[in-house]
Amino acid sequence: MGRTHHIPHRTCLVCRSRQPKATLLRLALDERGRVVPDPRQVHPGRGAYVCRDCLGGLAFDRRIQRAFRGRATSLSPLLQRWIGDRDETPPDGGFQEDTQP
Ligand SMILES: [Zn+2]
Repeated sequence: MGRTHHIPHRTCLVCRSRQPKATLLRLALDERGRVVPDPRQVHPGRGAYVCRDCLGGLAFDRRIQRAFRGRATSLSPLLQRWIGDRDETPPDGGFQEDTQP
């Protein structure tokens, strides 16, 4: 068995760099279309990946929309907390993109 072990790589949705899947955080959509962190990769459906360096600067913008093909509605409060933990500056409402029907 001289074959190289294959390590799956994924692309960070923010900086577009390809990295081993294990070093990226998976993002998924919940039933309301909110973007949630999925570190154990248990959510079904389409996922997107973000690297640790980019998580602190993640915002609900075109890149998220493109990664989820326009299905994402907002960042979940849980994900916003994850982002805030790494940034160390508490979000002051800048992430509020909730659009009430
Ligand atoms: Zn990145």
